[in-house]
Order: sequence, then structure tokens, then C-alpha cells
Amino acid sequence: MSVSTDLPRNAPHVAGEVSSRTRTALFRRRSPSHGSPPPHSRRRAGDLAALIAGLGAGAVVGSAWILTSAGLDAAGGPATMAGTLTAMLGTYLSLVLIFVVARIPWLEREIGQDRLIAFHRRLAPFVVVLITGHVFFTTLGYAQSMSTGWWPQFTSLVFDYPWMVPATVAFALMVVLSVASIRRARSKVRYETWWVGHLYLYLAVALGFGHQLALGSLFADAPWLRLSWIALYLALAVTVVLNRVLLPLLRHRRYRLRVAAVVPDSDGVVNVYFTGNGIERIPVVGGQFFEWRFGTRHWWWQAHPYSLSATPDGRSLRITVKNLGDQSGDLATELKVGTPVLAEGPYGAFTADRVRPGAPVVALAAGVGMAPVLALLQSLPSGHEVTLIYRVVDFAEGSIPLRAEVEAEAARCGWTLHYLTGEISTCRIDDRALLAMAPHLAEAEIFACGPAGFLDRIEAAALQAGAAKERFHHELFVF
Ligand SMILES: Cc1cc2nc3c(=O)[nH]c(=O)nc-3n(C[C@H](O)[C@H](O)[C@H](O)COP(=O)(O)OP(=O)(O)OC[C@H]3O[C@@H](n4cnc5c(N)ncnc54)[C@H](O)[C@@H]3O)c2cc1C
Repeated sequence: MSVSTDLPRNAPHVAGEVSSRTRTALFRRRSPSHGSPPPHSRRRAGDLAALIAGLGAGAVVGSAWILTSAGLDAAGGPATMAGTLTAMLGTYLSLVLIFVVARIPWLEREIGQDRLIAFHRRLAPFVVVLITGHVFFTTLGYAQSMSTGWWPQFTSLVFDYPWMVPATVAFALMVVLSVASIRRARSKVRYETWWVGHLYLYLAVALGFGHQLALGSLFADAPWLRLSWIALYLALAVTVVLNRVLLPLLRHRRYRLRVAAVVPDSDGVVNVYFTGNGIERIPVVGGQFFEWRFGTRHWWWQAHPYSLSATPDGRSLRITVKNLGDQSGDLATELKVGTPVLAEGPYGAFTADRVRPGAPVVALAAGVGMAPVLALLQSLPSGHEVTLIYRVVDFAEGSIPLRAEVEAEAARCGWTLHYLTGEISTCRIDDRALLAMAPHLAEAEIFACGPAGFLDRIEAAALQAGAAKERFHHELFVF
């Protein structure tokens, strides 16, 4: 191991190490082969999922077009048809919105939760616009066919037609909660408040279902479409209940995870160790995270994502948590040995199976972002040249998370370790600086975890230095 020039000669060791007894008994690390994923799995599922969703959208719009185009010549025909097309596509996409965040294991594994949520966020405005278009055009079409005004027709639709009051509540919920999810609006409320509100979107989708079957003319004319539509809704309900409720509960019953140790690591950072039954069978690899639900009075109702900070060794799991808010700040005092834990997941595609056989690996971490990076590097099969760049503010006592372990692992595995010090705004992160620390950057697989600004600068510098975009993988600690 070679430690870079920034390390002051007398740099002290990090405080808060776990007692030697605890480590040897429970958490001795097994060889990296345990939990290593198959080499270089091809990411086809994501393309396949996109293709299926796209074909579905085409089938929905196509069948709606064919089934409603006969009415084009009637009074209000074009507006009603526009209302039906926007309804069908908007509703179909609202189901796709829920499918992508239904925590489907193979989708999570292949694409990664951060990208699924990013796709969810990008698609949501289209759903709101399409459903708003449906409300406007359907009302306009009816008004034109009845020779009335838009508003009187709208109120008549709401109060005189079956299932329209729930549908109107659904529309209002969707608009309000979508506006509340705009980043600026969301940053104004506590995450938990936003999250509970967001759950009402499931209710909105359910409330909108009745009027589709009761009033959808194309469902009356095409029983096969009606059956497929009901099947789609049922498939979604089963997928959500299965992956977001039953699977986590079944896994909890099977593995009975509980807190085994809570150990301070560095300033505002704590290591939490978990044990349970048959932990070696949990299908998790280094770099992945779980949504942790701690069985304590304050936190049982919230699930928070924390990455594993050590590759699974078949006996224990560990997370390393920085005090960034109310729950993460509470763990050190609230968690006790034996506290039951429900771990949803594993999730995340920030994993070693993305590395081509024999390729060099460059990993970059800022602060507690070292957690998934360390676990990922420990799960790497041997034969990869590894450069680890650790961005830290300074070498003050206890200021660097997992420092002793990072240095010990770097020595044990022969990684080249560089510290990048200074304030995030002042420390030099450009192509020349990266190439100086990792001359093989252009052909390397690059993994980075840290704040958004840090990741953007690293990615820009790496691409500038000739690295390929598809070889840059990142994990961001905010969704
Ligand atoms: C994939 C992933 C992996 C992570 N791994 C780690 C890790 O290994 N170690 C670590 O210290 N931190 C990690 N985090 C960050 C950690 O989840 C948040 O710091 C924690 O949830 C904050 O909750 P809080 O109640 O302490 O703070 P709050 O004040 O409630 O929230 C602070 C910020 O954290 C985010 N946040 C809060 N609750 C959640 C939630 N349930 N889901 C998603 N984001 C939330 C919000 O953006 C919020 O603005 C990870 C985050 C993600 C997305």
C-alpha cells in the first residue's frame, strides 16, 4: 500500500475502534469470495423493462385510438377522443410510475433504486399533464355534444355520473401531491411528512379506478380490453403488496435481524452491527443498501436507507451512519443490543459485478460515502488493481469515518490509497489531479459515493480525463 503525499507524518489513528473481543468473535471478515457476484453480468433487464413498458403504452394508445375513432364525426367527437387517449395513456403511465418503485428485486438489482426513482420523477409530470388533459377534453367533448358550457358540464359530470366524486378526489390528490413533490416544495417539509403524503397517491390510483370501468365507453365496447385493464391493476396491487409488504415481513420472520453492537466510529458517525438467523443466506453483496426499519418506540414506522459498510461475512451485517438528521442522529442512543430490525431489500446496483474481468478499479468516496465504497471493494474478486481516493476535510482526530479499517484493508489488499484534503469547495478535483492519482483512469471502472456536488465534479473530471460514461457508477445518499 502507498499512502499519498497529503498524509501528515504524525497522523494519529482514528478513535472509536470496536473492542478487539467483539470484532474477533462476531465480525471476522471472510475472504472476498463470499457474496461476490457473478463476473460482469449483462444489464439486459433494464432494456427489457423499458421495452415492455413502451410496447404496453403503444398497445394502450393504439387500442384506444381504434376503439374511439368511429366517434370522431359526432358533436364533441374529437375532444372526447382526446379525453379518452389522454386518460388511457395517463392512467397506464401512472401504473408504470408505481411499478418502477414497487421494489421489484430484479429491477432494483439491474437498474438500481436511484435510477428507478429518477425515472419515476421524470415520468410523473407527464402523468399529471395527461390526466389534466383527460379532465379538460372529456368535459369539453361532453359539453359540445350536450351544447352546454364547460363548467356546468364539469359539475354535472362530477355529481350526476357514477364514481365521479371519488375520481375527482383522486384527481385533486394527484395534483396537490405532485406539486408537493416538486424539489423546492419538498425541501420545505420534513422528509417523513412528504413521504406519508406521497402514500396517498396509492389511494388516488385506487379511487380513479371505478369511474374508468363505469363510464369508459371503450371498455363497454371491448370486454377483452376491460379484462386486460383489470388484470393490469390486479398485477400492480399484487406486485406492490408482495414486494413492499409481504417480502420484507417474510424475510424478517426468516432472518430475525437484530442489533448486535452499536459502536462509535468517528465524529458524529456510528457503526451498527446486526446478527440474525441464517444471515449467510441473505442475497446481498457489498455496495448494496437496505431500507432499515428499527423496532424502537420512535422509529418503527420509518424506513431509512443505509448501505452496508463491510462486505457480508456470513455472520453479520454492518452499517456506518453519519448524524445527518433526526433519526441518523438518534441511532447511537436509541438502538440497544437486541433491538429488532426489519431490513427491506437489498437494493442498489452499486456493485462489483459491474467490473469487467481484470479491469482496474478507481473508487472515490467523500466522508460517510466510504461505507458502500469500502464494502464494494472488499467484495471485488482478486486480480483488480484498485486506487481508492478518500476525500476528507482534514486529519483531525476522529474526523475520518472508518479510517483505520480503510488503511488496514488498503494494506491487506494492496490498494493505492490517496487522501484528498481541504474544503470541498477548494480541493482540486480535475482531470489532471485524478490522472495524477490514477494514471489508468481512462480504462478503469469508476465508483464514487458522496454529496451531489462532489459526484458531479468527479464525473466531469473523469470524463475529461477520457473515462467512458458507462463505466462511471455512483451512489448518492439522497433520492
Ligand atoms: C441509497 C442510500 C444509501 C445511504 N446510505 C447511507 C449510509 O451508509 N450511511 C449514512 O450515514 N447515510 C446513508 N444514507 C443517507 C441516510 O439515509 C439519510 O441521512 C437518513 O435517512 C436521514 O434521515 P434523518 O431522519 O436522520 O434525517 P432527516 O432530517 O429526516 O433527513 C435528512 C435528509 O435525508 C434524506 N432522507 C431522510 N429520510 C429518508 C428516507 N427514509 N429515505 C431517503 N432519504 C431520506 C432526505 O433527503 C432529507 O432531506 C443513504 C441514503 C441513500 C439514498
